[in-house]
Amino acid sequence: MPFSDLHLSDALLRAVADSGYDEPTAIQAAAIPQVLMGRDLIGVAQTGTGKTASFVLPMIDILAEGRSRARMPRSLILEPTRELAAQVAENFEKYGKYHKLSMALLIGGVAFGDQDKALEKGVDVLIATPGRLMDQHSRGKILLSGVDVLVIDEADRMLDMGFIPDVEKICALLKPQRQTLLFSATMPGPIRKLADAFMTDPRTVQV
Ligand code: AMP
Repeated sequence: MPFSDLHLSDALLRAVADSGYDEPTAIQAAAIPQVLMGRDLIGVAQTGTGKTASFVLPMIDILAEGRSRARMPRSLILEPTRELAAQVAENFEKYGKYHKLSMALLIGGVAFGDQDKALEKGVDVLIATPGRLMDQHSRGKILLSGVDVLVIDEADRMLDMGFIPDVEKICALLKPQRQTLLFSATMPGPIRKLADAFMTDPRTVQV
């Protein structure tokens, strides 16, 4: 199947072609149409399957419409580690090079001052580790009520690292009528419970 069958914008197809990809991977072919339709989605996929682009690509087209407001990110991506957060940011830069999306990273090790400035300007995409996000939220620097799309990436690693209570707190701060995408290599009980509590009629894609 060619990428052009996935109903992505021309600008995005150009960025994908620049990356040298010929065809979507299995998770991309299955997930991208669901995400574009606004559905909640559980992606059971390992790293290396192309799962990052399976949410980054449709999110870019979803976010291309509309504008962000100060302190109110329009989408939120939770990652278990700084390294993964930085990789996802690189993916947004690569695939979003023909779009004008603003992005901020909320991860440990970055000075609060720089993060505050980015948030104050308004961001389309906020990529965060759960602990740092909760810190910034309790400092009053961030309003989560504007988030339309939430991604919980590497959920099983979040579980191993003890982040699920923070993830649950964050989910409870978001508006219920958002879109939620959850990716995990495996679906242990606590992740299944998280999905049951915070997702609406999710489709599951397994590769
Ligand atoms: P991920 O599973 O998201 O960590 O992606 C694994 C690797 O696959 C990354 O280096 C991507 O750049 C690459 N990749 C993503 N989508 C495709 C594709 N459709 N064709 C070839 N490589 C891809």
